[in-house]
Amino acid sequence: MANILSPIWDVIIIGGGAAGFFAAIRAAEQNPNLRILILEKASQTLGKVLISGGGRCNVTHACFDATKLITYYPRGGNELRGAFTRFQPNDTIEWFSSRNVKLKTESDGRIFPVTDDSNTIANCLRDSARQAKVRVELGASVLGVGKTRQGGFKLEVKKEAQAFHLQTKRLMFATGGDRKSQQIIQTLGHTLIDPVPSLFTFNIKDRRIEGLAGLSVEDVTVKVESLTARGPLLITHWGMSGPAVLRLSAWGARILFDKKYASLLTVNWLGDYKLDAALEVLQRNKDWHENARKKVWAQSAFSQIPLRLWKQLVYFIGEKNWGDVSKAELQKLAQELTAGEYKIRGKGQFKDEFVTCGGVSLKEVDFKTMQSRIVEGLYFGGEVLDIDGITGGFNFQAAWTTGWLAGNALSD
Ligand SMILES: Cc1cc2nc3c(=O)[nH]c(=O)nc-3n(C[C@H](O)[C@H](O)[C@H](O)COP(=O)(O)OP(=O)(O)OC[C@H]3O[C@@H](n4cnc5c(N)ncnc54)[C@H](O)[C@@H]3O)c2cc1C
Repeated sequence: MANILSPIWDVIIIGGGAAGFFAAIRAAEQNPNLRILILEKASQTLGKVLISGGGRCNVTHACFDATKLITYYPRGGNELRGAFTRFQPNDTIEWFSSRNVKLKTESDGRIFPVTDDSNTIANCLRDSARQAKVRVELGASVLGVGKTRQGGFKLEVKKEAQAFHLQTKRLMFATGGDRKSQQIIQTLGHTLIDPVPSLFTFNIKDRRIEGLAGLSVEDVTVKVESLTARGPLLITHWGMSGPAVLRLSAWGARILFDKKYASLLTVNWLGDYKLDAALEVLQRNKDWHENARKKVWAQSAFSQIPLRLWKQLVYFIGEKNWGDVSKAELQKLAQELTAGEYKIRGKGQFKDEFVTCGGVSLKEVDFKTMQSRIVEGLYFGGEVLDIDGITGGFNFQAAWTTGWLAGNALSD
């Protein structure tokens, strides 16, 4: 194994996360003669893999059609189309399975290790790197990068109190959302798209959802500005979460950031019901003679709306029986059910998965090789790029795919 003090390398990868490891392993397995080094500034590698998916690591998603897969990426989908024809979720499953890591698919399509333990994934990556003789240097922070006269790169590295220089023919940034590394990338001539959070929950304080934390509705449509998302919605202590809200937050990441997370959310608690269809059901409830003396709040008129939520949505009808409800009230209730408006007052954190959008401008990268179109010999992979997916394993898949492609090219 080459010594870290040896100042010359064939390939240096900055960042020991999912993308960096995948690239290093692929390059080393393709070309065992290469001297490959991963520089990781933290005291351990794969920190995000370990905490991901609530400690279970949602490795990828059971979506095997590239055309469909790209629709889960608010940013980067178009660029990933070709990339996914070369390495996609099936290949991820195969990659781990060939290393004795079995994965399982949950009913919503998310894929996890059967052990339900992210250590399984991290250990597999570390073992594979070790076997392929990839050198990993921990606590080594890259502070600056310059070009050498021979067309390679010179790195300024700091480890503990020691500063030193390394040289490499090819260099890859797999530095995730690290701001300082992005500044280094800028010094090399690349454009960085400003980072803003993606995948967050909405802070909403509203009497209609007060006291309902933990309650979820299976099929809800939510809208913000011109954006729409559909799926389960979860009421939380602070507002709203669940797949529908997280999807909307990813697609609306930039708009909501620009609006300082103060916007109006429209909620259709009935999935895709139109106002007229809801009104018809409500009218039938009113007309049904047995209902005439029954309180409106006592039973939900729609099986998909739990009674506790129904009671709060019909608050303005008070103690009235169905027989006494006016036409205007029915109209208002139909509106409440299909297009209720809620003020978003801020964003909350989604603890299971947190990503930023923004990063290296995708126009400046060749997605066949992940090589820079600006600096020869410079490569990118993972979250350092302006790519982000919705929740469900798509962000790791982008890291595996771009890492694998970069690894291929680095080994060439
Ligand atoms: C709590 C949480 C849970 C998540 N769960 C999931 C999930 O279940 N499924 C999913 O698909 N996605 C999940 N994600 C998103 C996913 O973790 C990321 O998309 C993925 O880790 C990106 O991998 P990466 O290799 O590009 O970057 P990272 O994993 O961020 O790795 C970058 C590495 O580079 C190092 N580095 C940066 N700059 C330097 C430097 N100058 N010198 C040396 N080292 C440097 C960093 O220390 C870091 O280790 C989750 C994210 C979080 C925060």
